[in-house]
Amino acid sequence: MTQTQRVFQAWKGSNKFILGGRLIFGPDARSVPVTVLLIIVPVILFCVFVARHLRHEFSPYNAGYAILVVAILFTIYVLILLSFTSARDPGIVPRNLHPPEEDLRYETTLSADGRQTPSVQIPRTKEVIVNGVSVRVKYCDTCMLYRPPRCSHCSICNNCVERFDHHCPWVGQCIGLRNYRYFFMFVSSATLLCIYVFSISALYIKILMEHQRGTVWMAMKESPWSVALMIYCFIGFWFVGGLTGFHLYLISTNQTTYENFRYRANSRTVAYNRGCANNFLEVFCTKIKPSRNNFRAFVEEEPPRVVTTITRESEDEAGTRRQKVEDDLDIGDDLMNISQRCNPAEQPHHGLDIDQSMIGVAERAATIRTETRHGSWGSRRSGSWDIEADVSSSNVRESRS
Ligand SMILES: [Zn+2]
Ligand SMILES: [Zn+2]
Repeated sequence: MTQTQRVFQAWKGSNKFILGGRLIFGPDARSVPVTVLLIIVPVILFCVFVARHLRHEFSPYNAGYAILVVAILFTIYVLILLSFTSARDPGIVPRNLHPPEEDLRYETTLSADGRQTPSVQIPRTKEVIVNGVSVRVKYCDTCMLYRPPRCSHCSICNNCVERFDHHCPWVGQCIGLRNYRYFFMFVSSATLLCIYVFSISALYIKILMEHQRGTVWMAMKESPWSVALMIYCFIGFWFVGGLTGFHLYLISTNQTTYENFRYRANSRTVAYNRGCANNFLEVFCTKIKPSRNNFRAFVEEEPPRVVTTITRESEDEAGTRRQKVEDDLDIGDDLMNISQRCNPAEQPHHGLDIDQSMIGVAERAATIRTETRHGSWGSRRSGSWDIEADVSSSNVRESRS
């Protein structure tokens, strides 16, 4: 077994990794520096043009220094929350390499001309019970798994994310089970920072008025940066403050943004509601589940597929054929593996040591692989892979035993 690639190097989602897979971002991670600048630049302007002048304003205690220190420390706190939100696994469900075999359905449909067409299907949905309420979970074709309740596939990151809330373009990351708490704390703290900068800037204008015994207009002319900061914070407040209010409502009713938009008047939204206080405890006081992904682990390569031991073809022919279908959906291989696992007599064989039953398997594989090349495994959207009629039904029935 060769160990050459790490999980983050072979990652199938659209994420970006830095520091050797230690930090994970969404594909739109470029927006993170923009968000950081939107926070840092106004705070620097505030420190230089407002807080600096207030240092000696509240003597004899020199309380003016506290204004500067609080602004700097609170900004660092907000940036730490931002990094916790955007640089860590939001709750990605690891992909399966094969469809779950226990859920595959083998069916035979009768076509118009009387021919039997066997097919392998995976049901689109499955019912699971959550808090005594039946919830329908969907099958994800990309990740080849039944999404756990509240899980959804983020089309931007191309991953299934547990307790998916939304994909936030400002933090360049999905908001899900593992970072929702930090996301909310980030947004609410940013709101407080807006209020703080706005209030102190207004206070500075008032102090200037008193010093010069002038009008408010004269004071504003004296410190245009205070005015600019107040306007900026006022606009920012409606954005982050509105978001904070909306998420307070969502937390109190235990909904995600996705559920709120998607199932507004649906019983699904009440399935998780355990009462306002308990809902808050669930978001803020439960232990955050460890990540289900170890991005720095080495990828274990799959054992060589049994199809490589086709004896009736020359080595070259088989090689070319393998090459051609390598990039296809690999469903044929999945079915092969499943049929082998279902039949204990057909354990994987390597090398030239193959018995008669293996030749049968290899033949079937060859047929299936050829069909895969022609794309006859049906559309992924339907979730059913119809086998062409020329794969005899007896072969499939055999694999079921
Ligand atoms: Zn998915
Ligand atoms: Zn996402």
